[in-house]
Amino acid sequence: MENTITGHTRLIGLFAEPIRHSVSPMIQNTALQALDIDAVYLAFELGEDRLISAIESIRTLEMLGANLSMPHKMAAVPLMDELSEAAKLVGAINTIVNDNGRLIGYTTDGTGFMRSLKDQEIDIIGKKMTIIGAGGAATAIIVQAALDGVKEIAVYNRKDEFFEKVKEKLRYIEAHTSCIIHLHDLANSDELAADVSDSSLLVNATGVGMKPNLAASPIEDFSILRADLPVYDVIYTPRETTLLKEAKARGTKAVNGLGMLLYQGAAAFELWTGKEMPIEKVKPIIENS
Ligand code: NAD
Repeated sequence: MENTITGHTRLIGLFAEPIRHSVSPMIQNTALQALDIDAVYLAFELGEDRLISAIESIRTLEMLGANLSMPHKMAAVPLMDELSEAAKLVGAINTIVNDNGRLIGYTTDGTGFMRSLKDQEIDIIGKKMTIIGAGGAATAIIVQAALDGVKEIAVYNRKDEFFEKVKEKLRYIEAHTSCIIHLHDLANSDELAADVSDSSLLVNATGVGMKPNLAASPIEDFSILRADLPVYDVIYTPRETTLLKEAKARGTKAVNGLGMLLYQGAAAFELWTGKEMPIEKVKPIIENS
């Protein structure tokens, strides 16, 4: 490969632990090279004890910015000079833009989700959706969907020690958007069936269906699925979870989390470079990862 790194080349970082498995460096560098942007994207494996100095290095090294993953998404919030509207509501960030020394925190998971819906020609604006899960991925999706104009979101989560906190968080999001948001116990299958029956999309935003229990599904009664109800699973390994198999068997759109992964990266790329990511160039990297 031809060396294009010069004294002018700018740096974008990825701060997380663990991170060596990530496909993001491959995706972002492919996109940067394809558009002849004089920057490189490198992964730095660092734990909580080095977050503050890593964030400070964005200013010191005049980096374009950074991506953050676990365990830094929430801890970095108070270290920002400014937050996007979605980042404020989610309470977590995955992207930092260095605007001449001012660090602006964004969350692009929700944008990635909404853009992938567009790709799949699934329209939920002004409509209702049901989502299972209320963790990091679910919150990012709920916030962006609410900001983008989804009318109502029914949230189902297991009744664990976080349930009351989740309720509070959803009330906060509801108060700051014009979306109706309600939380239910996932064990309440009658309520779930009723909400799904007038929803235009069902989303799984839990890890249920991943290894080691590939047969598991966040819902047990598949009769609530319908041919005109698209089902979205944020999981991308495996590509087809039990939930998606069941949805597909009913003839509906069954979408995995690869699109969300792709477009959250594309949204970050646009924030750093002001340019649209060349999606067709990076899609094969994600699909083969
Ligand atoms: P998290 O730990 O923040 O939240 C997990 C959620 O799943 C919680 O609501 C929890 O109550 C629920 N849950 C866990 N085990 C459950 C069970 N046995 N039954 C019912 N509910 C259960 O995790 P997260 O960061 O929100 O990630 C969730 C999933 O989303 C993971 O599979 C992750 O890989 C995926 N994800 C995908 C993308 C993407 O780009 N496609 C992005 C982020 C996360």
